[in-house]
Amino acid sequence: MVFKRQRIRSTSYLALWFGKLVYFLLRVAGKQGTSLPGWLLWRIRPSLLQELLQQLDQCVLVTGTNGKTTTTALIHAMLDNTKDPWITNRGGANLIQGVLAALLQHVSMSGRLLAKNAVLEVDEATFPHVMTRVSPTLLVVTNILRDQLDRYGEVDQALTLIRQGILLHPESQVIVNADDPLSASLGIDRELTYFYGMSVTPHHDPNRVEVRDGAFCLRCGHELQYEGFIYGQMGYYACPSCGFARPTPHFTGVHDDVKKNLQVTETMHQAESEVYSFYAPMFGIYNWYNLLSAIAVVRVLGSSPRILQDRLKNYEAPTGRMQTFPGSPQKILTLIKNPTGANSVLRAIESDAEQKSICFTINDDDADGRDVSWLWDIDLESFVTHTICQTYYCAGTRALDMALRLTYAGIRRDQVEVIDSLEKIDLVTKKAQGKVYILSTYTALYKLAAQFHEAQRSKAVQRS
Ligand SMILES: [Zn+2]
Repeated sequence: MVFKRQRIRSTSYLALWFGKLVYFLLRVAGKQGTSLPGWLLWRIRPSLLQELLQQLDQCVLVTGTNGKTTTTALIHAMLDNTKDPWITNRGGANLIQGVLAALLQHVSMSGRLLAKNAVLEVDEATFPHVMTRVSPTLLVVTNILRDQLDRYGEVDQALTLIRQGILLHPESQVIVNADDPLSASLGIDRELTYFYGMSVTPHHDPNRVEVRDGAFCLRCGHELQYEGFIYGQMGYYACPSCGFARPTPHFTGVHDDVKKNLQVTETMHQAESEVYSFYAPMFGIYNWYNLLSAIAVVRVLGSSPRILQDRLKNYEAPTGRMQTFPGSPQKILTLIKNPTGANSVLRAIESDAEQKSICFTINDDDADGRDVSWLWDIDLESFVTHTICQTYYCAGTRALDMALRLTYAGIRRDQVEVIDSLEKIDLVTKKAQGKVYILSTYTALYKLAAQFHEAQRSKAVQRS
């Protein structure tokens, strides 16, 4: 049995108090969301991460290339309650400093964690650092999506790092996506592993041109054969050469667009299957995957479906993950950062039959990536053949690149409108009928979220 510490080492107190002081000062200054205290602690006392993580009774880690933030928020919404609070790192603060900053908020001056459970989103590169310091109760891999942006083998690197982390803890329960051959390879032949996957839905279309570089067998290099694609390299696959194939999921999801339900068939305990439905108001297949994986996590931890459904009602989408701002027109803000992510967002928009416009907000700061050639890899051509949009707005520092990209996809020039500053998006899109989907790169996202919140607040003040 692993000896569990109840508090930090005496030699760590000074660093902890310093971190808490910085956290307090930032709070007074109205800057709560920053990971700065965690960043400082990691530099002056790196052992604190382990000293705090080892006090946890239950630690759930969420990693993968896409969908971590939403999945973590969903798990947190289903597990957190006043009697038994769960620590989490909100809003995608998924590096070491984000994890430390989240823990710091729940530690007493005497170095004791006041909440004993945590669900933490961990970036792929950070994952091995965390795994050497804690034995997680459970870890979930959302997916390891390849896209054409991956010209430097980052996806292979991510897969290697996650695999190394998992190998360190054979005693941890692991939940992986059966439909993604890269993720599934982490769990096949491993004990204490559960798979989740979607039943092929009407959204599935084998003729779509998408990125499927991942569609090669990891064991023998042979091209995988697919009976159906879902999105990216996800689908029903098998290797004709060595027998590597999609494992049968323990949790199978089917989404009902009309009832807005995700029906889950669970065969965790082989004897009989259990079927339950969750109200799933979010749209887009990638969000149903996020919800399905989150349900798998909390079911493996032993919560009953009825309690989970109740708690899920409190779920609020994190910033820029199909975040809705009511009003006229209604705005839906979502992050795009690579072609695969953008394609899955466009697929979700396609499934919305109501009148709509799209505003692409593309910046090219360091955090967004300086190279915007990925815009050309988005499958806009098939989007415009499947969907009618009223207007395509383009904003951000690379608005003109996006406008050019749209015209090459066959969109008429009079349907494309360039907005020259982020501040004008509210005003210009006022004339749009129906909804406006705002697809934004990273650096514009938080500015826009703050701007839309502010507009809502001032409207509320005017009304009262
Ligand atoms: Zn093979």
